[in-house]
Amino acid sequence: MTNYLETLHDGYGQFFKIDKMLHEVRTEHQHLVIFENAKMGRVMALDGAIQTTEADEFIYHEMLTHVPILAHGAVRSVLIIGGGDGGMLREVCRHAEIEHITMVEIDQAVVDMCKEYLPHHSQGAYDDPRVNLVIDDGMRFIANCTQQFDVIISDCPDPTGPAEVLFSEDFYHACHRCLTDDGILVAQNGTPFLQLDEVKTTAKNIQGLFADAHFYHAAIPTYIGGSMTFAWAAKNPQIRQQPLSTLEQRFAASAISTRYYNAAIHQAAFALPQYVLHAIGQLNKH
Ligand code: SAM
Repeated sequence: MTNYLETLHDGYGQFFKIDKMLHEVRTEHQHLVIFENAKMGRVMALDGAIQTTEADEFIYHEMLTHVPILAHGAVRSVLIIGGGDGGMLREVCRHAEIEHITMVEIDQAVVDMCKEYLPHHSQGAYDDPRVNLVIDDGMRFIANCTQQFDVIISDCPDPTGPAEVLFSEDFYHACHRCLTDDGILVAQNGTPFLQLDEVKTTAKNIQGLFADAHFYHAAIPTYIGGSMTFAWAAKNPQIRQQPLSTLEQRFAASAISTRYYNAAIHQAAFALPQYVLHAIGQLNKH
């Protein structure tokens, strides 16, 4: 039995024993592998980077959905860019008050193969009547988009291959244009201990453009290097300042049961370590 060696970082990485290979294909866009691992459950990787595992996906998907949605408090329309495994869509669909969900995924094969081999990720979310799945490049979609959304979630891989454009200045400007007045963009932004440049570059791109540009974090074991940062780019600076009591009320009213997210974690997630504050030019600003 062979191992899957992650090649995301030079000279440092993780491996997963492939207990059972489920699917491997070179799609039009990337190399897709899905396999079983006794410890982490079913695992999906793209171009040598682990994308998601059944064991810990809940942390990532809960933090990139419930934080912006409950901070906003009146979300009716959401755009997900990427997210082909379906986990992000599943968590967004749990909010009954949301009326429209558009998901723009570049690779139909990722959607199809994850529906088949990672069914616990989407759990039928693609059949939700509020969902509009678009197979397209997220950058092309947002550049030509004339709609506005209350929340945009960029659930993309690291800035390599087809995902590179989703970390560009043009992408953030287009997202800003496609957000409502209280709109929020959140985006996966790597583990700063190993990918600090990713945070620095995103900070430069969103500061000045958005009234409130910050980051929050959570530790997802399979995204190695410690906590992963999520970019927070909001048009209304008040939204990130919701008191804990408001977040608790909204979380209770949502009637959503979670395994990671709660109101205290939500609020604490925005407290960043000094080296990250320094990297984003916010040291000594409180
Ligand atoms: N949690 C993962 C992470 O943090 O790296 C991301 C998981 S999700 C599977 C990433 C998705 O983004 C993949 O399905 C990939 O096909 C999609 N993707 C990559 N580039 C894209 C682009 N330019 N437009 C839309 N989707 C893209």
